[in-house]
Amino acid sequence: MGVTDVVTPVRLEDLVAALAAATPQTRLLAGGTDLVRSIRTPGSEPDTIIDLTGLAEFAYVRLDGGTLRVGATTTFTALQWDPLVREHALCLGLAAAQVGSVQIRNAGTIGGNIANASPCADGATALTALGAEVTTIDGAGTARTRPLGEILLGPSRTSLAHDEAITEFSFPALGPEHRSAFAKIGSRTAVSVARLSAALVVRFDAAAGTLDDVRVSLGAVGGAAFRASRLEESLTRLPADEATAQLFAEGCVAAVQESIPGRYSLPYKQHAAVGLAYDAWNMLALSPPCEPAWA
Ligand SMILES: Cc1cc2nc3c(=O)[nH]c(=O)nc-3n(C[C@H](O)[C@H](O)[C@H](O)COP(=O)(O)OP(=O)(O)OC[C@H]3O[C@@H](n4cnc5c(N)ncnc54)[C@H](O)[C@@H]3O)c2cc1C
Repeated sequence: MGVTDVVTPVRLEDLVAALAAATPQTRLLAGGTDLVRSIRTPGSEPDTIIDLTGLAEFAYVRLDGGTLRVGATTTFTALQWDPLVREHALCLGLAAAQVGSVQIRNAGTIGGNIANASPCADGATALTALGAEVTTIDGAGTARTRPLGEILLGPSRTSLAHDEAITEFSFPALGPEHRSAFAKIGSRTAVSVARLSAALVVRFDAAAGTLDDVRVSLGAVGGAAFRASRLEESLTRLPADEATAQLFAEGCVAAVQESIPGRYSLPYKQHAAVGLAYDAWNMLALSPPCEPAWA
């Protein structure tokens, strides 16, 4: 086993200097809940660990005009309880609240969740529905902002360079007429990674009694969280009633089927998608609680 250097930047300039010296074997450490396990594999030891825990300036939630900004080292516990998240991005707070255990939520960060690029990452499902962009900094001190979908390439694969760190996530803050929800199904009720997750955002036009700005993101099905665009379009301008809840559930089933045709987990996930869809729908509280007709 080789020797690993650890550097702990405390200011942005120090981070840039550390990134400038990074090699493909260098790893960033945030909460360590994914990284520590992965570097125990023989042959995976990093030459250097860049420890982000000294960068207090990267842990924040801020409302900047109509944009919500979330620093990369913000923990799930902070997201779960943050009043701005609750008001303007509830699905992200709900996702954070369902990550692992209290200990994992206290240490695990939203930046690590995305950079780790697990298809099951709860933060990715919520941020995809919110239309998040990701800002990074590299070893030359260059900041770049790109859509989350350009960062997440597939299981454990991102477009992040070895000398690039995520600094922030940003997305349009949801307004008072928006509702959002997050639901997941795991193999047990606690400390369970998602076998299927969904985030739902809608704007409710109270005068017309209909939905618009519908956004549906599915996770843990396929390589990375994705938006079910056809389903979103089919729900736009429909009333917020039981028939629409059923269409939503049917659309989730169809999206799962299209995403993993022939996969051994398809029958389970199609079935699970129905319950998941109704859970998410009922969280919006736009209609009396609905259940599948056959439940
Ligand atoms: C028991 C257990 C239960 C879990 N349950 C869940 C769950 O329910 N839902 C879920 O989504 N996840 C779960 N996880 C996975 C994990 O907790 C999350 O993915 C967490 O968000 C990782 O964040 P971290 O800060 O610990 O990242 P780290 O482990 O520190 O890093 C993870 C990866 O991201 C890179 N990285 C970290 N920060 C940055 C950055 N700012 N820029 C670029 N790269 C960076 C690291 O180099 C590493 O490759 C669980 C893990 C455990 C051990």
